[in-house]
Formats: sequence, structure tokens, C-alpha cells
Amino acid sequence: MTSSTPRAVVIYSGGMDSYTVLHRARREGYELHALSFNYGQRHARELDIAKQVCAELGIAHQIVDIRAIHGLIDNSALTDASQALPSGDYAADNLSATVVPNRNMILLSLAIAQAVNIGADRVFYGAHGGDHVLYPDCRPEFVEKMNDVAAIANFSPVTIEAPYLHKGKDEILADGLAMGLDYANTWTCYLGEALACGECGSCRERLAAFARHGLSDPLGYSSQRPEAAASPQPGTDEKTAASQRPGTDAEAIADTNEGRQDV
Ligand SMILES: [Zn+2]
Repeated sequence: MTSSTPRAVVIYSGGMDSYTVLHRARREGYELHALSFNYGQRHARELDIAKQVCAELGIAHQIVDIRAIHGLIDNSALTDASQALPSGDYAADNLSATVVPNRNMILLSLAIAQAVNIGADRVFYGAHGGDHVLYPDCRPEFVEKMNDVAAIANFSPVTIEAPYLHKGKDEILADGLAMGLDYANTWTCYLGEALACGECGSCRERLAAFARHGLSDPLGYSSQRPEAAASPQPGTDEKTAASQRPGTDAEAIADTNEGRQDV
């Protein structure tokens, strides 16, 4: 990296979406500054993995402790350990309990501040298409408006990049597999046990994405739906399965504008 290498901030939770975004941004040649947030989530598994991945990649990484505002955002099953976590597939009536109030706006605001602070002109985050219905702050119109604000809120304009905003979980996974990423280096489960639960909406969405690729998730699970425990299709190894999907190369994703609440 030279002094002229462009800088970018990446909101990186340690989950599979932001892990893929981190690598996508890295491939674009940015000097990256990864930000993870401790906002009082129920467990720190994602943060531990994020720290480990950044250390291995030599990426500057900061875990920002925003627990001081926990009392403002604690009415969510993700931030209040006394609330039961819903299980089952994502649906508005159960997973809305996992919406942390105004989370992405808070996190983006802090990431934009750091970008201005270090002379970076963009912030990457992992909003993706599958989250739109449940999470208002993962919608394209939210990202568009935040981008407008980020352009005028400081003397130095900042651009928000959400490369998977119009992509689903399958496409994110396909892009990551095409980049040769190892998803054992991610944590998705809402619980923080030794093994992922396989039952929460986040686990189920992840398992389903691997299953649709005809692959097994490299993570260990304590339980798993039979239909999600994918076995490789005959004559199809992992690399082949990834490369056979159309539109999953390092193409066009780069300059399009995280997210599930996986930031
Ligand atoms: Zn889980």
C-alpha cells in the first residue's frame, strides 16, 4: 500500500455477508479499515472471528464499543437476553423481534465519521436483497438516502457501497465461493454456542443458501434440517458448483451500490 492507495472503511460483523463484502472491497484495491461494533449483542462469537480474520489478512481492524447506548436500543431479541430468540425461517411475524432500533443508520453514521477522519471516501456494508422485507434499513431506498446524506454531511463526501444490495444470499455465497473464500471463517448464528444452532432464522437462511449450491456448510451445527444438510450433487465439486452459476464472477458487482442486520 502506498500513500496514494485509496482508503475505505468496511462495516464488518464477522458474518458471511460482511465477510464477502470485506473480500470484495479488498479485491478492488482499497486500503481497508474494518469496523466491528459491540453494541451489547447476545454473544461475541462474530467479533472474535472478525478480529481473527483481519489479523490473518493484515487489515486494520477496530472493535468499537458502543455498549454505552445499549439502553437506547435494547428492545430487541438480539440485544436483550431476557427475550426469547425466534426460531424458524425468516418471516415478518417472528424475525421482526430481531430488528435492533435504527441499527444500520447508527453504524453507518459512525463508519462515515471514521472515513472522514482517515481520509477514506467510501464505506462498504453488507445490506443484501433478502433483507428488504424485514429490515427497513437494508432497503435500496434507505441506502440511497443515506448516500445522499453522506455526500453533504461533511466537507469530504463519502460514498456508501453496498455491493450486494440487489443480490440474494445465494448470489453473495456464489461470489464468495468464486473468490475462493472459506466460510468456516464466519459466524452467522444468533446464538453464541460452540456450534451454530441450525434452527434460528439466520442459520436456516445460511444453510438453505449452501444447500441450493449443492454444498455442505463448513461450519459445525448442533442440529440441522434434513433438507438443508446438502450433499454434493453427483459429479459436482465445490469449485465447479460455484463457477457454474451465471453472473457470479468478479463482474459488475464491484461498482454497484450490509445489511441484513448482519453488519
Ligand atoms: Zn442459529
